[in-house]
Amino acid sequence: MRLFVALSLPQDLRNRLGGLASGLPGARWVDPDNLHLTLRFIGEVDGREAEDVDAALSGVQGKRFSLTLSGVGQFGDERRPRALWVGVEPNEALERLQAKIETALQRAGLAPEKRKFKPHVTLARLKTHPGERLHDYIVQRSLFRAEPFEVDAFTLYSSYLANSGAIYSPEAVYPLGG
Ligand code: ATP
Ligand code: MG
Repeated sequence: MRLFVALSLPQDLRNRLGGLASGLPGARWVDPDNLHLTLRFIGEVDGREAEDVDAALSGVQGKRFSLTLSGVGQFGDERRPRALWVGVEPNEALERLQAKIETALQRAGLAPEKRKFKPHVTLARLKTHPGERLHDYIVQRSLFRAEPFEVDAFTLYSSYLANSGAIYSPEAVYPLGG
């Protein structure tokens, strides 16, 4: 199965983000139910590896923290924008948690993640270039800032790539301490 580690988002926050999902032709908006913040993409593993991943994540000792989503940006370059996202206010606790997860997964035998962690919540995939509307969209929403929320757990998700789009299922939830 295909796995990734992420923070789930409270329903009211997902609804709020869902309100950003308009005004951009060519965007494939993420269903509000599927909005999440990826901490570590794992990819395809067999049952044995999945158990090792679960054991490694169970051993991660992290503390609860508060997180604020703010700003909007894009991945990909001017010519070929690929995705639209909401960013995260600088957050040391989030960086620490992500580093702990990375260390635990490497100890469990996973290859190191080479890409630098860029915390974000993907709002849309851009299949065709939305043209100058993209710039306007980002500028108009640059001051977006959500209410802070408490992160008291992280989640191991499986991802099933269906024709209709990816279907995520929480496989395990790992609580953070006080
Ligand atoms: P689709 O691939 O059909 O567009 P998806 O990207 O939502 O759907 P997955 O590819 O299973 O579904 O990815 C699950 C999560 O992991 C998403 O948040 C995705 O952005 C992230 N992700 C996927 N591949 C990588 C990767 N190579 N590095 C970092 N994060 C990734
Ligand atoms: Mg993908």
